[in-house]
Amino acid sequence: VPELPEVETVRRGLASRLVGRRVDGVDFRPAKRLRGTGGLPLEGLEGQTVTAVRRHGKYLLVDLDGALLLAHLGMTGKLLFAEPGEAERPHTHLVLHLDDDTELRFSDPRRFGTLKLYPKDAVVPELAHYGPDALAPAFSKAHLAAALKGSGSPLKLFLLDQRKVAGVGNIYACEALWRAKLSPVRKARTVPAAKVPELWRHLRDTLRDSIAKGGTSFNDYVDHIGQPGKFVAQLAVYDREGKPCPRCGAAVVRTTQSGRSTFWCKKCQR
Ligand SMILES: [Zn+2]
Repeated sequence: VPELPEVETVRRGLASRLVGRRVDGVDFRPAKRLRGTGGLPLEGLEGQTVTAVRRHGKYLLVDLDGALLLAHLGMTGKLLFAEPGEAERPHTHLVLHLDDDTELRFSDPRRFGTLKLYPKDAVVPELAHYGPDALAPAFSKAHLAAALKGSGSPLKLFLLDQRKVAGVGNIYACEALWRAKLSPVRKARTVPAAKVPELWRHLRDTLRDSIAKGGTSFNDYVDHIGQPGKFVAQLAVYDREGKPCPRCGAAVVRTTQSGRSTFWCKKCQR
C-alpha cells in the first residue's frame, strides 16, 4: 500500500514530465468501486494544461489551468507513462493522451483508488479533515505534542490517523516507532514531553530516508516508470517477525492493532 514516500516518489516523477503538458484526449472507463464519481466528469480534463503536481499525505493533486485532479493510489493504483502503442496493464481505467504523444495511464486492479476532478481552487472534501502532511512545515513539534496530549489511542494507531498527521501508514509508523524506541501499544498521551522531539525527528527522517530510496515495494508498488522502491532493505522491524532486532538482537514480534500487523521490539521499545 503506497504511503507518503511512495506517493512522493510518484509525485516527483509525474512533476518532471507532466508539468506544461496539455491533455489532448481522455479515455475514461468507469469501474465499479473506483472512486471516480462525485466530482466533475473526468472528460473535462481534455484541453487542460498541467501547471503543478502536489501531494498532501497520500493524495496527489494535479493542478491544471482550469481544474484540479485529485488522485489516490489506494492499494494497487498505478500512474504510469507509456508510449501510445504499448500494451496496457490489466485494469487500466484512465488514459490521458498528452500533447507530446505520450500517455499517462491509471491502472488499479483492486479499485480502491480515487480519481476525481474538481474546479480549480476548489476546497477538496477528501482533505477537509486531514491533518498536516508529515513533511510539511505545519507538522511541527508543537503540533505533534498537542495532538499526542489529546489522544488516548495506542501510539501506533495515533500515527495512522490521517486527521492527526497525513501520509503515515503501517510501514513507516512501525519503523519510526522503532527508531524512537517507543512502544506502539502505549497510549499516545503517555509519550513523555522530552521524547516528542525525537519521535517527530525519527518520523520525518524515516519518511525522507525512504523517499531517497524511491519508497518501499512490498506487493506491487512501482513509480511512474515502473521501478520498484529500494527502502525494503533498510526496514528494521516491518515484516520481520521472528528476526533479530538490528539494535538489541531480540526477536521482532508481531502484534495486531485494529486488524493490522504491528512489528516491533518489545525489548528496546518502551
Ligand atoms: Zn530491540
